[in-house]
Amino acid sequence: MRTPILEVEDLTLHFGSIAAAERVTVLVYPGERVGIVGPNGAGKTTFLNLITGYLRPERGAVRFWGQEVVGLQPHQVTALGVGRSFQIPQLFLTLTVRENVLVALAIRERRGWTSFWKPLHEASRVQVADEVLLQFGLLGQADRPAGELPEGGRKLLDVAMAFALRPRLLLMDEPTSGVSAQEKFRVMDTLVAALQEAGVTSLFVEHDMEVVRRYATRVLVLHNGRILADGVPGEVLDDPEIRLAVTGRR
Ligand code: ATP
Repeated sequence: MRTPILEVEDLTLHFGSIAAAERVTVLVYPGERVGIVGPNGAGKTTFLNLITGYLRPERGAVRFWGQEVVGLQPHQVTALGVGRSFQIPQLFLTLTVRENVLVALAIRERRGWTSFWKPLHEASRVQVADEVLLQFGLLGQADRPAGELPEGGRKLLDVAMAFALRPRLLLMDEPTSGVSAQEKFRVMDTLVAALQEAGVTSLFVEHDMEVVRRYATRVLVLHNGRILADGVPGEVLDDPEIRLAVTGRR
């Protein structure tokens, strides 16, 4: 029997009368790329926040490789091998692209902020950063301030920073939001190639159904905090009732 990398069981959280997560139960297996879709307010970001320690559920369990993570702080969940990128990239805009990755690596090494600057450009760390930037097609931009990157580049850099920490599971909140239509597929091609090469399992929230169809191996549909459907993208997204629930259109 295959061992799940992630087990979510009966996960429940309300904000007042709103069910942001209602008895969510799902198993994710190594190598899967799970697209998470649903209308605005369905609970997609809440789901990622519950898995990564940013929110604590009222009820339920989240296990990573069998280990319970509910109650851990986000940095402790990261240390176990669960990476996270954000809808709005969390970058240091005045630092260079390379320095952003170096900072992510330095924080993982738990150096204090005061002792951090001198060794930031340590050769071994720069080598790791440059390997990741090469994988993400950003090495040519390494010396530019991150603030000068176009939106697609910023999104990729945010994922690259999470990726540099060598997660086994990577959760991405709308990796293509704000990215132009022509740039979207290039961003996803780069991302998915990096994930495949490193054997990283992923979950990504996405509003663009074409992106989900092309890049997800499985799709999870959330609606009012509940799982409405879970299956192969072609089948799930071709169901007219589900399309209506997700997009509001037939
Ligand atoms: P979107 O596609 O718009 O980003 P989403 O599917 O990610 O939406 P969530 O952000 O998870 O949805 O929100 C689920 C529900 O919980 C929404 O009704 C939202 O308003 C509510 N909610 C989320 N966070 C909080 C909070 N901190 N306090 C109160 N309500 C919240």
